[in-house]
Amino acid sequence: MGLFLEIAVAAPINHTLTYSYDGRRRLQPGLRLLVPLGPRRLTGYLLDISEKKPQGDYPIKAITDILDQTPVFPANMISFYRWIADYYHYPLGEVIKGALPGGLACRSGREILLTTRGEKKIIPSGEDQKKKWLLTLCRNKKLPPRTVGKLWRGRNRRILLKWQEQGLITINEVIIGPTCKAKTEICVGPVEGKTADNLKKSEQKTLNLLTGLLSDDRKTIPRRDITRRYSGAGKALKSLAAKKIIFFEEKEVYRDPFGERPPAFAEPNVLSCGQKKALAEILPAIKAKKFKPFLLHGITGSGKTEVYLRGAQTALKMGRTVLVMVPEIALAAQIEGHFFSRFGSLVAVLHSGLSKGERFDQWQRILRGRARVVIGARSAIFAPLADPGLIIVDEEHDPAYKQEDLLRYQARDLAILRASQQHCPVILGSATPSLVSYHNAGQGKYQLLNMKKRIHDRPLPKVEIINLRKQPPVNGRPPLFSPQLIRALTDNLKQHNQSMLFLNRRGFANLVICRDCGHVVQCRNCRVSLTMHKKTAALICHYCGYTIKSAVVCPNCRSGRINEVGFGTERVEIELKKLFPQARIGRLDRDTTTKRADFIKILKEVREGRIDILVGTQMITKGHHFPNMTLVGIIWADGGLGMPDFRAGERTFQLLSQVSGRAGRGEKEGRVIVQTHQPDHYSITTAGDHDYQEFFSRELSLRASLNFPPYGRLINIKFSGKNEDLVKKSALELYEKIKEISRVRKVSLLGPAPAPLARIRRQYRWQLLLKGNTINSLHEVAIFSREHPPAPVRAGKVKLFIDVDPENML
Ligand code: ADP
Ligand code: ZN
Ligand code: ZN
Repeated sequence: MGLFLEIAVAAPINHTLTYSYDGRRRLQPGLRLLVPLGPRRLTGYLLDISEKKPQGDYPIKAITDILDQTPVFPANMISFYRWIADYYHYPLGEVIKGALPGGLACRSGREILLTTRGEKKIIPSGEDQKKKWLLTLCRNKKLPPRTVGKLWRGRNRRILLKWQEQGLITINEVIIGPTCKAKTEICVGPVEGKTADNLKKSEQKTLNLLTGLLSDDRKTIPRRDITRRYSGAGKALKSLAAKKIIFFEEKEVYRDPFGERPPAFAEPNVLSCGQKKALAEILPAIKAKKFKPFLLHGITGSGKTEVYLRGAQTALKMGRTVLVMVPEIALAAQIEGHFFSRFGSLVAVLHSGLSKGERFDQWQRILRGRARVVIGARSAIFAPLADPGLIIVDEEHDPAYKQEDLLRYQARDLAILRASQQHCPVILGSATPSLVSYHNAGQGKYQLLNMKKRIHDRPLPKVEIINLRKQPPVNGRPPLFSPQLIRALTDNLKQHNQSMLFLNRRGFANLVICRDCGHVVQCRNCRVSLTMHKKTAALICHYCGYTIKSAVVCPNCRSGRINEVGFGTERVEIELKKLFPQARIGRLDRDTTTKRADFIKILKEVREGRIDILVGTQMITKGHHFPNMTLVGIIWADGGLGMPDFRAGERTFQLLSQVSGRAGRGEKEGRVIVQTHQPDHYSITTAGDHDYQEFFSRELSLRASLNFPPYGRLINIKFSGKNEDLVKKSALELYEKIKEISRVRKVSLLGPAPAPLARIRRQYRWQLLLKGNTINSLHEVAIFSREHPPAPVRAGKVKLFIDVDPENML
């Protein structure tokens, strides 16, 4: 009897497809299959199996092949994927493809074989001698799919099709396998019950080495571990195996992605009052195996990590699993250290710092139930945990939880969804909860848990706000360091305490202007100015990476009088060195830490007291715990307030509170100096007073007056393309098309207008913002837009993206 399979194909198709299967294997949801689609064969994901033919009279094709022995995701993820595809207006198959670790997907490609006729006829001469692919074809009599793929996209396709017609070549469809496979290693172990007499010296030595490395739960060890220690071991192992004293076997091994970890703190014997109260609510909820969302509002240094660890312990004891989300790799390293010290090899990590192979291995460990605690950034929300008993979202307010391209999802929101589908509690933790989450708690949607005191009742740091406009100018501009900040740094150095300077912009100068003609050096691909980096003597675009040599002359008028305006962390570091030549200064931003190892190294230097002053971007504001850090200086607190984004005030408050929270976490009291041009702005004053409540009510009433979230809901429709006119035309055309339905559904349309960043990576950008009181009315308009795309979008000349609950308005 044949079966009918519901399959999501990894392609931009908005619905699932039905295929048939007549084979004898028992199929399970979560398997990957190869299915025919038009002329190609693609990976599909098996979602449902039925014996009944679905309604409708259309031919049903059979699947081509089954790619997996066992499912690559648990069946309980399917409803999760379906919800995501609907809510974020994204093809289901591509949701699943993106959720799985890279390197798993198969696809079909073309291989070219030279026929005997072709061998005689195709003889490269003259100009053709320069075509590398042609020479390869003649030499090897075939071309691999990779090469053919490239040729196929170019002008040569016509030639190839002609040759095929003339019988000079044959073009075959072939399957290109997954690029990642489990890694294996040769291991050796002693054959049981074999005694060894008359061994050679080298054999005896090798055998001793081997037995010394074995233990009760390690019956074999990697061959490498022995050959590494003794150069004669390779040969000796072979002869020992020949004598049947030892045996070889091939074992699957996991690539270790952990490397060096920051150290963990010890398990405290006594919990603080706040921790006890929070856990008194959380632990019963974990035991009840029911969905329950908590918002853990714990000030900086209140010991939230310990609450997470105890919660995790309880979930594990019940045989369930735990998902811990952190906003970025930087923080993953910290939390990973803590979790690893408690739960050891039960921990797996998933983040963008892993290689493809490492990611694949971590995935397998989770899928097979060997790893039961998963720590990861945004994409870890897709971790294939079978039975989560607790989901934790640390620093839940962090913008990094929002994915800003392809599938534009908010991982924090998905954590709530996943917890509700899996019947488990979820903890959103933060010292500065997002406005939306705090509002949800106020509405009773989340249970609010407060931790208002730091561990050991340590006080929050004192904050001084310095009005930069009142400072004596240097070269006509406000100074980088106010006299107050310089004095505080000097004192702190004298007392051998550590300081931290925060500025949320990297580079040396963010604007390079010609003093004669006023030309601003801009990126070739983006409508933004280039940032000057001194150390690499380069002007770099922070959006697309476009780089040119530092200009010594103006590219416009050839004048040599170039002005470097503005400042970034690199300039802060350089000026600081001039002021304090004796101080040991470190810098933490994306320029100094491209790899996780760099990051861990700098943090280690800070922890070990080898850095006096740490300069950095928002990377330094998060999570870190340095007991000796007593002074925090904020170079330019209002830097983000000018952003054309309704969340600018919220972001500023969060950043200032978080960075201030790094001061005075040890025994010595902390101090914060905030430099700003807007000393009276509520985001700055409330952060200075450590007054979340006041900030919340001010910001909330502002949002209410504009009907922005958490009151109104938003969907942003974005257009982009190389041709400015067509992009604009698309936006205007869609506006006309949805005007009527929007009016009926009470959705207001803001725009269309060029995005604040009007051109990025050679793409012109327009947007049309939908605002309404319910998300469903917005979805209706979005679906209508998708189904009635403007002409240039239909023609593939302009791309249309739907961004649900947008966070980045730039
Ligand atoms: P935050 O709430 O800012 O995330 P952390 O979880 O980093 O705070 O905790 C701050 C510090 O307090 C850590 O060094 C941790 O070891 C310590 N700590 C947490 N709980 C306790 C406790 N019950 N007793 C003593 N020290 C604790
Ligand atoms: Zn650029
Ligand atoms: Zn000029």
